[in-house]
Amino acid sequence: MSPLLTIALFLLMLGAILLGPPIVRYNRVRREVLRYAAAASSAQLEAIYALVEQTGTVASNGFVLARTYRKTEHERCLVPLPEGLPDFPWSGRVIEVVAADEVVVRFVDEPATEPVLLGEAYRPVRVPRHATRKPARHRNVYSPGEYVAASAPLREALAAACPNHPLKLLSHLLCAAGGDGVEFEPIDQARIGTSPSWVQDPEYQYCDDCRKRMRLILQVPGPLISRKAFRRGTFYFFGCPAHPDRTRTLGQYT
Ligand SMILES: [Zn+2]
Repeated sequence: MSPLLTIALFLLMLGAILLGPPIVRYNRVRREVLRYAAAASSAQLEAIYALVEQTGTVASNGFVLARTYRKTEHERCLVPLPEGLPDFPWSGRVIEVVAADEVVVRFVDEPATEPVLLGEAYRPVRVPRHATRKPARHRNVYSPGEYVAASAPLREALAAACPNHPLKLLSHLLCAAGGDGVEFEPIDQARIGTSPSWVQDPEYQYCDDCRKRMRLILQVPGPLISRKAFRRGTFYFFGCPAHPDRTRTLGQYT
């Protein structure tokens, strides 16, 4: 055997020893989480989502769309905007997202009771919000780790649903576009209201009428609205609370 080949073989073996076990382990963990996620009952998921919402200490200003594993009959992407959000004149309206030659986000006059994207139903979960002392303002909390740290009942509900990896289960549930992933990735979240998670540098939008910064109405990752063309994009739909007809759609790509 040539010395070069020996060295190459040695390096390959070293690589397998150093990198192999963590990857194998990660895949085993992922498969376990996905198995438990698929086995969770809708009552279990509903209890988990309600407990996440209860970790907030001030009024929420938006939602994240969580997985339900429920299929629907139609494939259209329709998102009804829940009632009761502060400074959010679009409450009660329904958004349709159409991914054809380009991605179009628009208000439609359709009855819709729950968000449905490509034949999957989602549960809007209120994003927990807290007051901070210095500076005095409110802060949205997206991190599943913070929810789990804040709530013993949530820890129990998650442990009942997935004993070994409760936090990974919650990350999977709240990152709807994360595919088979079990880690928390903000850009894998679909959001109503709250604040955008940017794929690239922030591109805040300003109203043509009053020049004020627009609010996020909907953030939706490409994989939730498109089976092919737009999977690498994330789409943001903004509007001006003072001029609700002024809206703008923006896409960012990885
Ligand atoms: Zn305006």
